[in-house]
Amino acid sequence: MSNMPIRRFCLVAVLLVTASTLVNAGGQSSPPRHPQADAQALDLARRAIALRSVRGPGNQTIKVAELFRDALVAGGFAVPDISITPVDDTAFMVARWRGSDPSLKPLVISGHLDVVEAKAADWQRDPFTPVVENGYLYGRGASDMKFDGALAIAALIEMKRAGFAPRRDVVIEFSGDEETDMKTSAMIAEQLKGADLVVNIDGGGGTLDETTGKPRYFTWQGAEKTYADFELSVTNPGGHSSQPRADSAISQLARGLLKIGAYRFTPELNDISRAYFVKAAQYEKPEIAAAMKAFAANPADRNAIETLAADPAHVGQIGTTCVATMIAGGHAQNALPQRATANINCRIFPGHKPADILAELSRVIGDPAVHVQDVTEGSVANDASPIRADFVSAVEAAMALAYPGVPVFPSMASGASDSMWFRYHGVPSYGASPVFIKSSDDFSHGLNERIPVANIAPGITYYVSLLGALAK
Ligand SMILES: [Zn+2]
Repeated sequence: MSNMPIRRFCLVAVLLVTASTLVNAGGQSSPPRHPQADAQALDLARRAIALRSVRGPGNQTIKVAELFRDALVAGGFAVPDISITPVDDTAFMVARWRGSDPSLKPLVISGHLDVVEAKAADWQRDPFTPVVENGYLYGRGASDMKFDGALAIAALIEMKRAGFAPRRDVVIEFSGDEETDMKTSAMIAEQLKGADLVVNIDGGGGTLDETTGKPRYFTWQGAEKTYADFELSVTNPGGHSSQPRADSAISQLARGLLKIGAYRFTPELNDISRAYFVKAAQYEKPEIAAAMKAFAANPADRNAIETLAADPAHVGQIGTTCVATMIAGGHAQNALPQRATANINCRIFPGHKPADILAELSRVIGDPAVHVQDVTEGSVANDASPIRADFVSAVEAAMALAYPGVPVFPSMASGASDSMWFRYHGVPSYGASPVFIKSSDDFSHGLNERIPVANIAPGITYYVSLLGALAK
C-alpha cells in the first residue's frame, strides 16, 4: 500500500499530459479544472477495462468492484461504508458518503461493473487491453460503462478533496449483471428503494456533430420502454401428412402472426417524449422535423404518425411496438404439426402493464386456438419518471458549466437499463451521463468500442456540479 501511490502518481502524470493535450487539440472544452480527478478518471477507466468482467468462467466483475472500492477508500470514503456482495459468479458494490442530515433520503448514483462479451479475434485490438490512440480510449467497456464509472468516482473523490460536505447521503452503486439477467440490479434497487432520486450514469448523453466534432445537444433520459416477450402457441393432435386436417397448428399460428404484423398500437405521448420531439426536431431533416412537431402537438395527427412510424429511429418513440422475433413448429417433414410457437417481442410504452398488452394481442389475433403467454425474464414494468424541477435545474447548470450553450432536453430510451428497477419502486431515475460521442462512434456492445478522452475534463466538471447540487 505504501509504495503504490507513488508509482501510481508517475503513471498518472504521464496520462494527464496525454489527456490535456488531446482535450486542447480537440478544441471542444476549456482546459481541465480538476487535473487530479481528470488523471484519476483515465487511470481508473484503463484499469477497469483491463479486467474481463464478462459473465461466465473467469468473470472478473468482483475485481472491478475492488478496484473502485480501493479508489474510494484512498479518496477518503470510510471502509465500513462500502460493501461488495458476491452473487453467483458476479458481485455488486454499494458505497455511501454520509451526509450531515440523516433525515434526508439519499441521492443514488447508479452504474454497472460488467460488460458484454467480446471476442478478441474479431477486434482490431485486444478488447481487454486499454489503449489511448488518436484521442480515443479503446476497449470493451469504454463507452458501456467503465469510463463513466471512473469519471463519477474521480468526481466524488475530487469533491471530498475540495472539502464538500453533502447534506444527504450520497450512495454510489454498481450492479454486476446489468448486461445479462439483472439479478444484482434488482437486489440493489430493493436495498435502496427509499432513495430520493437516482442519477443513472449509464444513460442519457450528448451527441457530437459528425463533421465538426462539436457538441450538438445533450439529453437526459427520464423514461424507458418496458421490455416484454410473449409466446404464441398452437397445439394440435397432428397426424399423417397424407391426411391433412382442416386445422393446422402452423397455419393458425401464421394467421395470428400476420394480424400482429399488420397491427399498430395507438400512438401516444408523455411529458418526456413531448419535450423530446419539440426540442430534437431542430436536428432532423425537414420532413421528420415537421412530423415531430405535429405529433407533439397532436398525437392523433395521421400524417405525422405515418412519417414517424416509417422511420426506424422514431417508430419506437411514438408508442408500444410488438414484433415477431422467433418461430418454431412441426416435428417431422411427413407429419402434421402438433405444435407451433412464436416469440413476440414488445417494447411497451411507459405506463402500461404487460398483462394489458397481452390481452390486446389476444384480441388482435382473435382466435382462441392461439394461446398467448407472458414469458418475459429479467424485466419489470415501469412508468416514466416525473420531470423534477430540482433535477432539471441541476443538470442544466452542470451542462452550462461543462459545455456552455449546448441545448439540454429529456429523452426516452427504447432499451432497458438499471433505472427500470428503481422506477418499479417509484424512485425517480434519470440517465444523465455527460459523455458526448458521434452517433457513428457508438460501438456499445459491438466491436472496437471507444470513447473520446476529450470527455474527461468537462465530465468531471459536470459531475462535481451536478452531484454537488443534488446532494446539498
Ligand atoms: Zn450499460
